[in-house]
Amino acid sequence: MTPQRAQLLARMGLAPLWRLRQAPDDDAAERAVEAEEASDAAESPVHDMAPDAGAAAPAAAMTLPAVAFDTSVAPMPEPKPAPDADDGSAWERLEREIRDCTACPLHRQRHQAVPGIGDRHPRWLVVGEGPGAEEDRRGEPFVGPAGQLLDAMLAAVGLSRQQGAFIANSVKCRPPGNRTPETDEIASCFPYLRRQVRLLAPRLIVAVGRPAAQALLNQPVRIADVRGRTFEFEGIPVIVTYHPAYLLRNPHDKGKAWEDLCRARALTRAAGP
Ligand code: SF4
Repeated sequence: MTPQRAQLLARMGLAPLWRLRQAPDDDAAERAVEAEEASDAAESPVHDMAPDAGAAAPAAAMTLPAVAFDTSVAPMPEPKPAPDADDGSAWERLEREIRDCTACPLHRQRHQAVPGIGDRHPRWLVVGEGPGAEEDRRGEPFVGPAGQLLDAMLAAVGLSRQQGAFIANSVKCRPPGNRTPETDEIASCFPYLRRQVRLLAPRLIVAVGRPAAQALLNQPVRIADVRGRTFEFEGIPVIVTYHPAYLLRNPHDKGKAWEDLCRARALTRAAGP
């Protein structure tokens, strides 16, 4: 693992787990970072790596469920150009429509709509809930502490909103008081998300939080029930994980989010060049 990646994991609150050495089946988070190490070296699978028998593992770190990672895959390949991408006019038209939209009550209290930001030829489309106060003010999704954590999570798997990832929300206008968007608000806004998916043609969609998962899966969900499974939206694999704002309130679940990102990365690789 590079010092930079170790720093990123530290920003996710995972650095103490990385330092632990213990029985392989006891701690999925450690297996994830070991898989990371194996991938970085582009060498042997993780089961070939001898555990460090000399270090003891504190019981507090042994609480995460087991998860299998494909550690034998090659480094993430470069993305294909999005087949539906055009010269930008479709994007301009879509963003203009979003900014002018009055299709649901959320337009009444917004300062501005927040269409999304990122690489328009992404490997991953990350879909969140809706803009908060700062996002509403700046016109950009995932700013502030939750956005910084999302950026660290993406960077840990080699992506950023400049390269490899596009970030959008289920609703493009801020729900008053940062409340959860209503089902009918998500439904009103969904055509915009669908158009974004078609323009971006990502290899993978990562739904962070329940509203995003419900929008893409078109059904009520509990995050605990859908984590670890792979769904599909218009032929694109969809995985679900925790929202960064939730992880800031519940840092003990960061290890699970890291498992989800590692699984997402393996799925992206399996999709091929
Ligand atoms: S949330 Fe979506 S549907 Fe509602 S006003 Fe904003 S852009 Fe339109």
